[in-house]
Amino acid sequence: MGKRNNKRYSLVIIIVGLVIVFTSLAICSFSIRNNLEKEMEDTLRDVAVQNVVAINDEIYVQYKLLLGFASEIQEHPEREKEIVQNMTAFVESYGFKRMGYAHGDGMAHTTDGYNADVSDRNFFQQSMEGKVWITAAQEEQFAQTGGAINVFSLPVYGGDGEEPTGVIFATYDNEIFQDMLDIDFFNKQGSSCIIKTDGDIIALSNNSPMQGETNFLTHLMAEQVASASKKKSSELVQKMRSAMASGKSGIERCEEAHEAGHAFIFYYTPINENIYGGQWYMIAAVPETVLAQRTAPVMRNVRIFAGFMFVVALVGVSFYLYIERKRKDELVSLAYEDTLTGGYNFACFRESSKTRTGLAGYVVAMDLAEFKLVNSSFGVQKGDETLLELWKILREDVSDTEMVARVNADRFVLFLKAESKEELEERLDRLIERIEEIPQRLKIPALFPVFGVYYAQSLDEPDKYYGFAVQAKQLIKGRRDRHYAFYEEIDYKRVLEEKEMENSFSKAIEDEEFEIWYQPKFSAQEGEAIGAEALVRWRKSNGSMLSPGRFIPLFERNGSIAALDEYIFRKVCAQQKAWLEKGYEVLPVSVNISRVSLYFGDIVENYEKIMADCGLDSKYIQLEITESATVDNTDIAGLIERFHKAGFIMLLDDFGSGYSSLASLNTLHFDTLKLDKSLIDFIGDESGEKLLEHITKLGQSLGLHITAEGVETENQLVFLKTLCCDDIQGYYFSKPLSMEEYGKNIINVEARQMFG
Ligand code: C2E
Ligand code: CA
Ligand code: CA
Repeated sequence: MGKRNNKRYSLVIIIVGLVIVFTSLAICSFSIRNNLEKEMEDTLRDVAVQNVVAINDEIYVQYKLLLGFASEIQEHPEREKEIVQNMTAFVESYGFKRMGYAHGDGMAHTTDGYNADVSDRNFFQQSMEGKVWITAAQEEQFAQTGGAINVFSLPVYGGDGEEPTGVIFATYDNEIFQDMLDIDFFNKQGSSCIIKTDGDIIALSNNSPMQGETNFLTHLMAEQVASASKKKSSELVQKMRSAMASGKSGIERCEEAHEAGHAFIFYYTPINENIYGGQWYMIAAVPETVLAQRTAPVMRNVRIFAGFMFVVALVGVSFYLYIERKRKDELVSLAYEDTLTGGYNFACFRESSKTRTGLAGYVVAMDLAEFKLVNSSFGVQKGDETLLELWKILREDVSDTEMVARVNADRFVLFLKAESKEELEERLDRLIERIEEIPQRLKIPALFPVFGVYYAQSLDEPDKYYGFAVQAKQLIKGRRDRHYAFYEEIDYKRVLEEKEMENSFSKAIEDEEFEIWYQPKFSAQEGEAIGAEALVRWRKSNGSMLSPGRFIPLFERNGSIAALDEYIFRKVCAQQKAWLEKGYEVLPVSVNISRVSLYFGDIVENYEKIMADCGLDSKYIQLEITESATVDNTDIAGLIERFHKAGFIMLLDDFGSGYSSLASLNTLHFDTLKLDKSLIDFIGDESGEKLLEHITKLGQSLGLHITAEGVETENQLVFLKTLCCDDIQGYYFSKPLSMEEYGKNIINVEARQMFG
């Protein structure tokens, strides 16, 4: 949960960071655009003002000239022709086309010799009303030279000076204005013009897009504009009219002039000289695209930077998510991967079960009997190799809808599907076969796989079902006759019984419920008692007696066996001592030591001390160790040596049952070989007898004393005699006897003589 919060927290930081970067970029580009726009407006204003000053200067000079001639005519109306003649000298130097004078009736004559009626001309009418006037650009009338002209006119007053008596005028090429307006700004993209307050165009700069048009306000209202912007345009025109009526300056944006996409920004300012008829306005304009052009490089950089930031952020976030993902995967694999096999572990089995609920199948718990011994005698590396081989076999056998996982050590869990119990058994048999091939490859002792099986209708509770499978496996633990057991086989009466036995063990030791029975051994040739084996019995407080087969495997599983073996050993020692003291002819008694007990504490030192405390000579006690214990050769060989040093005779028990390791006979220095009952039972069968013969010979050649166990018939005895077997233990001579019987009948010399 904490990790997830962290992750969310970092993501929020990244997102907030990105938002901050992008907003500042947006603000930055907005302000850049604003500044550029401002700069553009300033330039427009500067250009307009500059033009106004230039125009004013020019016109003022001309005005003075015209005014001079006007007052001359006023003073000397009779010299009018001569004065017009005089004007000729100024025409060129003032840049005029011509100058002239018109009488009150409209008859005019000019410096270039034209005589014409101008009474219908606008400039004449205006100036006759007393106005100083400059016309808008218009066609030339006198000489059809083409090109637009402007006419500058002034009233000339009579002697009384009250009513104009004529008009003095100068015509000049509109180009003069144009040249004046031709200031280069914004790379020739900026243009200017002079208009009257009614919008009539007086002059346009050469590069003005309004060439051929006569009215600026009409231009703003151009017909082609879309209907939506028409309204805007008419509002703009309205605004301009009222601004110009009150002599204001200002900046405006014309969204859609003339043609779509031709938007422009313009500055308008009055040319504030009262010499002309009415106010004029100077307009400096620039297409909106210029602003875009100017902002473009900056904006491009901003965009590149933003793109770069975005990519950096994207890469950052992706990298972060990748790392995060990888970390999670690692955690998952740590949690779900078995470190040894690289396959699934139980946690993973549990998780995967969730996706398989509703599936019926067999949950199988598996391990190898005595696997510990592989580790302890061949090293952990060999043990690991064994497990890896085992894993390979299991994994190969398991299909996609099935599962296999390692639980720990040599424990595995499988989920297998089969149509029937028989089919599953066949499958397990095949698996067992393959597993039993491992030892040959790895040169280790035989492996004995054990399986517990639970059939689950649905895999909804994997832990529980695995537990059931393990319980089933416990049924055959320690047994070497079966490889698998099913949960249904669990005998609950037995389970409860075992629980009860486990719980009452300590009390039973205290209450001396464990009795020792003695099965005498006899010499094969003479049939004389030569010793006995001590066998434990559990007499319960209710009077019933349990044979060791009922409780020894349980105590071997829970470890109580060490205490029990020690107890029996102690008791046997004490009893031997007691019989010695009674003067009985005490024979050596062999005591069983479970292979499990061998791993508890220092058993040699312990047993030696017990015997010394008892004051008993070691010749009266022998020790029996089962053959399977010898699997772990290195430890056992040392133990046997030490037991020998302590004076004990060592017997190799159950030789020939299950696992026979002839090689161990040579390496482990036992004194006596006890042939298991299963070998004795071969007697009567030819090849069995051969085997028995060979084993006996081998033992004898190694100098071992041979004892035959479980001899029940005379036939067996006869055959064993021919093999020169030393001792016989079995029902043929005697069943195990109670301590009293044994003492009384076997080793009490007098009694024995009677008994014999
Ligand atoms: P074991 O050490 O092989 O002992 C011999 C077993 O074979 C005894 O069974 C004995 O009664 C039985 N037996 C002897 N002769 C014959 C025969 O002619 N026919 C048949 N059918 N059986 C015969 P028991 O007393 O039930 O003991 C069973 C096993 O329990 C022993 O096998 C031994 O492994 C274990 N055991 C007994 N006492 C002790 C003990 O004090 N400590 C340990 N660790 N194990 C013990
Ligand atoms: Ca024994
Ligand atoms: Ca035995």
